Amino acid sequence: MQFFWINKSIQTQNQTIDIQKKNIEIENQQFENRVNISLTNVRDKLLLLNDEAAGFYLDPVKQITKNYFVVSFYDTLSHELLENFLISEFQQRHIQESFEYGIYDCFSDSIIYDKYVGLSKNTKISDNISANQQKWDHDGHYFGVYFPDRIESAPSKASEISYSLAITSIIIILIVAIFTYAISIILRQKKLSVMRNDFINNMTHELKTPISTIHISSDVLLRTDIHKDPERIKRYAKIIKAENNRLEGQVEKVLQLAKLEKGEIQLNKSIINIHTVIKNIAETFEISIQDRKGKLHFELNAQHVEIEADPLHITNVIATILDNANKYSPAEPEISINTLCDHDNVIVSIQDNGKGIKSEDLKHVFEKFYRVPTGNIHDVKGFGLGLFYVKSILKSHNGNITATSEPNIGSTFTITLPLIK
Ligand code: ADP
Repeated sequence: MQFFWINKSIQTQNQTIDIQKKNIEIENQQFENRVNISLTNVRDKLLLLNDEAAGFYLDPVKQITKNYFVVSFYDTLSHELLENFLISEFQQRHIQESFEYGIYDCFSDSIIYDKYVGLSKNTKISDNISANQQKWDHDGHYFGVYFPDRIESAPSKASEISYSLAITSIIIILIVAIFTYAISIILRQKKLSVMRNDFINNMTHELKTPISTIHISSDVLLRTDIHKDPERIKRYAKIIKAENNRLEGQVEKVLQLAKLEKGEIQLNKSIINIHTVIKNIAETFEISIQDRKGKLHFELNAQHVEIEADPLHITNVIATILDNANKYSPAEPEISINTLCDHDNVIVSIQDNGKGIKSEDLKHVFEKFYRVPTGNIHDVKGFGLGLFYVKSILKSHNGNITATSEPNIGSTFTITLPLIK
């Protein structure tokens, strides 16, 4: 709309300029005509005074420029008479511009008399022209009249329009930018709130299972006849303990996240061997992987393996990635752990043959609460916090994590950690 109105006003402005130009042209034309007639009359009057026939020359008045006119005369000429006739003719024709007139000798083409006359309504014609006034009685003169104040007036330019167009464009760009920014923030907030809701749902779901198991087990323990069977008491006590540990683990995860967000996580760094960490953690996973008829392969080729890191958090990092590789492999999991090193870093990559991640989801997997949408199927449990935790911990160790994945083929997560110099 803004551009439409600006366009319209440019058109109107152009039309106004055209009209102004035409008016100026008409006004100039009228002025020139009036001057022409006045000068012809002046010449005729002078010739009559000299008893010469007027109209002897055709076209006696010549317009040299817009404001300069020359009149051929070739007769006796008195400058006072000339001035008086000029003033009276100009006044009659409402020409109120000041003028300068000059008398020329046409043989030498030089000026022999000139005068500036400031013309106004009150300019008087002098009536006592002296008898011995200066006259040029030889043939061969002409006189010129020049209007110094008459300069060509140009119509006003459309510069304000382009100025306002620039300002309007800047304002529009600014508004669009602010609007886009606001929309993007709203969308981000919306996504975040959906993720938070998912998290709360997952969380309650995850907590409900151990709570109900503990509930059932404690009901059994409360039965009056249970003391007769100490083995059963032990079994149920074990279940309660295990479920309690699970609950503790879940709560710990959330607490860790809160600490991570506030930057309160304390790193107790020591020099550790990354291969030892991998082997220790792999042992605990091997059983569950073998239970699912899967296999864990190792290719630990890094020659330098010592890093300065918090052993607990680095163990958690590798455990999270291994756990994911196992969790998100619906068929028998084939997981391989490779290590390499370059000049500065040790590189650990964990590859699986799981369900993989689509590229549009892959770029979000390290975000807090992000879980790849699976519709209504909630077969794999999680909070969407694991990889966020991994990324944050690696960042605090000056390390990094990247991921590549292909749906239905598998994923590879690659960790980089700086070696001790
Ligand atoms: P979660 O608790 O959901 O496992 P994570 O932060 O560990 O949270 O992982 C985020 C999401 O990334 C998961 O929900 C899953 O969809 C996807 N993901 C992570 N690791 C893998 C993997 N190895 N294979 C396929 N998908 C994975």
